[in-house]
Amino acid sequence: MTRVATVLFVYAHPDDESFGIAGTAMKLRDEGHITGLLTLTRGDVGMWFGKEKGSWTPEELARERSKEWREATTVIGFDHCRLLEWPDGALGDSPVDRVTADVVQLVRELRPEVVCTFGPEGAGSEHDDHRAASFFALRGFHRAGLADQYPDRGPAHQAKRLFFNASPFIADFPIIAMTPTHTIDIKKYEERKKQAFECHKTQFKDRDRFYQMIERRRGKESFHLAVDRSGTASSADDLFR
Ligand SMILES: [Zn+2]
Repeated sequence: MTRVATVLFVYAHPDDESFGIAGTAMKLRDEGHITGLLTLTRGDVGMWFGKEKGSWTPEELARERSKEWREATTVIGFDHCRLLEWPDGALGDSPVDRVTADVVQLVRELRPEVVCTFGPEGAGSEHDDHRAASFFALRGFHRAGLADQYPDRGPAHQAKRLFFNASPFIADFPIIAMTPTHTIDIKKYEERKKQAFECHKTQFKDRDRFYQMIERRRGKESFHLAVDRSGTASSADDLFR
């Protein structure tokens, strides 16, 4: 890559960043690019590893997960981070125009070339919040470029590319495939990616799944180019070219 560009990652929960794109975010920043993360919920209705169900309130969990998110995002090292308070478990039931406006606002502030989010299938796990994050990111991606949409949220900016997190089809494996078009080698960043996940202590029920995923991906993170308004030929190991 030859010039500085900006990429914005949009996801649903604290820990989505560590599972999916941590290595790519670290690599891009090391290469001099600008990285931003928008997390739409504080994960307030998830489980709390090591605690009996019902022994905490959603607000307590939200506070703890917000702290974990700050630690993990510090390990990853984003240039910009924003954690919103849309309801965990009900992101899809949230007011469409207000959530979209929040995405539009950050797109217009950071003015990224590239936006990355989950695929509409919910990133293999079929989580409804992941599907909703995908919907809002895609809606925000397009509408941020239209000056007559959300004029109170900053001057229009059309990002060039939108990517979904991708994972290839695996026979007899219970995830929905999203065919990769781009694959980023993150081997060098794998240890720091693990450190980022280790910040999410309330979510250690997913720890085995995280390490199995690391194993399965063999030092790679994959993306599916879903929208390309750059008019340039695609390069399979670079999100900008
Ligand atoms: Zn999630």
